[in-house]
Amino acid sequence: MNNIPVVMIIFGGSGDLAHRKLYPALFNLYEQGLIRDNFAVIGTARRPWTHEYLREQVSDAIHETHKEVSENDVQAFVSHFYYQSHDVTNVEHYQALKELAQELDDRYSAQGNRIFYMAMAPRFFGTIATHINDQHLTSTGFNRIVVEKPFGRDLASAEKLNQQITASFAEDDIFRIDHYLGKEMVQNILPLRFTNPLIKNVWNSDNVKNIQVTLAERLGVEARGGYYETSGALRDMVQNHIFQIITLLAMPQPTDLTAKSIHQAKQELLDSLVMPTKEEIDQHFVRGQYLGSDTTFGYKQEPNVAEDSTTETFAAGQIKFQKGPVAGVPIYFRTGKEFREKESRIDIVLKHMSNPYGQAHSNNITIVIDPQMEIYITINGKKISTSGIRRENLDYTFAKSELAQVPDGYERLLHDVFVNDSTNFTHWSELKNYWKFIDLIEDAWHQDNQAGKKPVEYLPYRMGPKAADQIFDSATEHWIYD
Ligand code: NAD
Repeated sequence: MNNIPVVMIIFGGSGDLAHRKLYPALFNLYEQGLIRDNFAVIGTARRPWTHEYLREQVSDAIHETHKEVSENDVQAFVSHFYYQSHDVTNVEHYQALKELAQELDDRYSAQGNRIFYMAMAPRFFGTIATHINDQHLTSTGFNRIVVEKPFGRDLASAEKLNQQITASFAEDDIFRIDHYLGKEMVQNILPLRFTNPLIKNVWNSDNVKNIQVTLAERLGVEARGGYYETSGALRDMVQNHIFQIITLLAMPQPTDLTAKSIHQAKQELLDSLVMPTKEEIDQHFVRGQYLGSDTTFGYKQEPNVAEDSTTETFAAGQIKFQKGPVAGVPIYFRTGKEFREKESRIDIVLKHMSNPYGQAHSNNITIVIDPQMEIYITINGKKISTSGIRRENLDYTFAKSELAQVPDGYERLLHDVFVNDSTNFTHWSELKNYWKFIDLIEDAWHQDNQAGKKPVEYLPYRMGPKAADQIFDSATEHWIYD
C-alpha cells in the first residue's frame, strides 16, 4: 500500500524521540513511497517555533542519520511539515490544532485520516487523550493513536489512561508502542521457533531446562534521574520489553500470522501466568542499586535522585506459565544500568541427557538482539586427535550488507501504524497481565522497604549484584551470559 493519505500530529515535536527516531523513520517511509503526496505532519510543542524552523530541525535530523541523501528529496519531504505552538494542558490550543489539521487535510486530500503520536512525558498522555476527546479532534476517516511507554505506572493508572484513550479510540486503533517489538532479532523469534524442526521439537518443557533474558545497559541514568525515580528498572524494562520478549518465547504456535491470531496465542499464554507468593518473590527476585566509582556517581548521588532512594536500577527475577510449550520451565530475566557492557540477549538452556561419553556441555540456543545481531547454538563434538568432547558454536550471522538493510525499530513500527497492522504492538489485555504481575512485585518490595530491607548495592560496570546468581530453582543452574 503506497501514498497513504493522512495528517499526523506529533505531540512533542521538539523532543528527543521525534528528532532522533520519528523524523528519520518518516523520511525512510517517504522514500519508499508509503507516504508521499497526501500526507502532512504537524509537530507540536510549547516553544514558539515557525513552520520553517521545524522544517530545518527535521532536515537536520535526517542529515544526522543519513550519510548519502538527495537534498531535493529532503526538501520535498520537509515541505509536508507544519508547526503548531501548543501547550497540551491548555484546552483552547486544541481548537487551533484542529483547525490546522482540517486545513492540511483539505490541502493534501488526506481523506479525514488522522494519526496522533504521543511523543511526550507520560504524565501528559491522559491529558492529551482527554482533550482529543472533549475537543473532538478525531476526524471522519481512520483515527489511530500511538502511545509511547510507559503506559501507566501500575494497573490502576494504566486502566485510567486506557479509559481516557478508549473514549475516542477503539482498541484496534490504539498502538501501544514497544520498540523492542520492532527489533530484527525479536521479530526473528517466531520464525526461528516455528519453521525449524531442529528447534521446534526441543522447545518444550521436556527439553528446556530454563530460559534466560538479559537486557543489560552500560550507561547509568544520566540526566534522567527525575524520571527514573518514578519508574525503576522493573517498570522501565520488565513491564514492557522483557515481558513481550518472554511472551514471544513461551507462547503457543498461533493458527496463522494475522495480528488477531498472534494476540490470541499470546493471551492464551498470559492467562496462565503464575503469580508468585511473597516467599517466592523473596527467593527468586533481586533488586539492586549501582554504587559509584572513582569517576562516576552512585545512583543516590545522581542529579534529581533522593539521597535515601529505594528505586532499583537493577532487577532480576523468574517468570513461569502453566500453559504453552514451556509450561513450568523457569524463565529468568535480568536488566539494569551500569552492566559491564550493553547487550540484549536470550539464552535457551537445554537439559542434559545421559550419554556414553560422560560429561558433555549443555546445548544452548542464544539469540543476541543488540548490539550485534546473531543466533548461535552451542553443540558438542569430538576433540581432534583425542577422545574428549569439545564445544562448538553453530552461528547464524548477518553480512555487513544485510545489516545495512535492517530498518530501525521505529521505522518498522511506524510503517505498521500506517498500514494498520497491530501485530507488533501491545494489546490491552496483555498489558493488564503484565501490570498485575509487576504490581505484585512492587508491593512485595514496598513491604521490604517498610521492614528496612533495601535494594542490594552493586559495583558498576560488572554483571549486577552477586545476589542475582542465587535466584535459580536449582544449584545446577547459572547465568549463561556471565
Ligand atoms: P523529551 O523531553 O525530549 O521531549 C518532550 C517533548 O514534550 C518536547 O517536545 C517538549 O517541548 C514537549 N512538552 C513538554 N511539556 C509540554 C507541554 N505542556 N505542552 C506541549 N509540549 C510539551 O522526551 P523524549 O525523550 O522525546 O520522550 C518522549 C516519549 O518517548 C516518552 O514517553 C519516552 O518514554 C518515550 N521514549 C523515548 C525514547 C528516546 O529515545 N528519547 C525512547 C523510547 C521511548
